[in-house]
Amino acid sequence: MKTNILKKKYTFRDFNNNMKRIFILIGLIALSFCQSSYINLPYSESKDFMKGKNSKSFCVVIDAGHGGKHPGTLGKTVKEKEVTLQIALELEKILKKNNPEIEVVMTRKSDAYVDLNDRAEISNKRKANLFVSIHCNANENKDIHGTETYAMGVHKTDGQLNIMKRENSDILKEENYKEKYENFDPNSEESYILFKLQQHGHLNQSLDLARKVEKHFDQHAKRTSRGVKQAGFLVLWKTAMPAILIETGFLSNASEEKYLTSIEGQNSLATSIYKAIRDYKNQHHK
Ligand SMILES: [Zn+2]
Repeated sequence: MKTNILKKKYTFRDFNNNMKRIFILIGLIALSFCQSSYINLPYSESKDFMKGKNSKSFCVVIDAGHGGKHPGTLGKTVKEKEVTLQIALELEKILKKNNPEIEVVMTRKSDAYVDLNDRAEISNKRKANLFVSIHCNANENKDIHGTETYAMGVHKTDGQLNIMKRENSDILKEENYKEKYENFDPNSEESYILFKLQQHGHLNQSLDLARKVEKHFDQHAKRTSRGVKQAGFLVLWKTAMPAILIETGFLSNASEEKYLTSIEGQNSLATSIYKAIRDYKNQHHK
């Protein structure tokens, strides 16, 4: 009798277990069906599927300097805003062609001005991995030529101070610029003391990317590299990721202006910047 009761209890539990097994089996069949569909997906999509997201894992913001009512520095035949846009669009094309897994965000794709604060804001909102601002240089001495790449920091020479003042002067035409930029006056040397007190959070990575850009300008584009430098550029100030500002050459130098306006020159400079971004990603985001 005792044995029979135990037997009955056992049978009921056994029934429950069997039901559980059936549900697990149905679950496994459903899972294997999902996996077989997943295996057929291209690699990048399947990786995102597993992560439960659609966005790409590495994002670069390309910022064409100036635009609209802000021409930047003037060459004899061309304005800085035109050259920076052409190089930026070429860089976008090369990046998308060679590394489709990289998300590319442009701060502007036409002759429009975007406030310097907004350019950093676009990058921060997208949680970009890199911010690359493209510019052209100028100097009273028409012989001076070559490339320079900057990370945020404190300038060391008057030449760097002048470049920084020129690049930052765009904000003077922005509405309420004093409120927007915490009473920053681009023409006052005292304003730049602010940058002595604040160090950019990603300085080492920014300098690393800057060195890679200058290396490829030298090796690939065969330009005269004037090196990696630091200065207080407002467009880099509020960025929350490694950020650089590239001076791709001097529009005040006749032969460099010719190079900067040529399709070959723009392609060669954009390819060099692309190689630096590619090397940086391979090194830091495997
Ligand atoms: Zn500029």
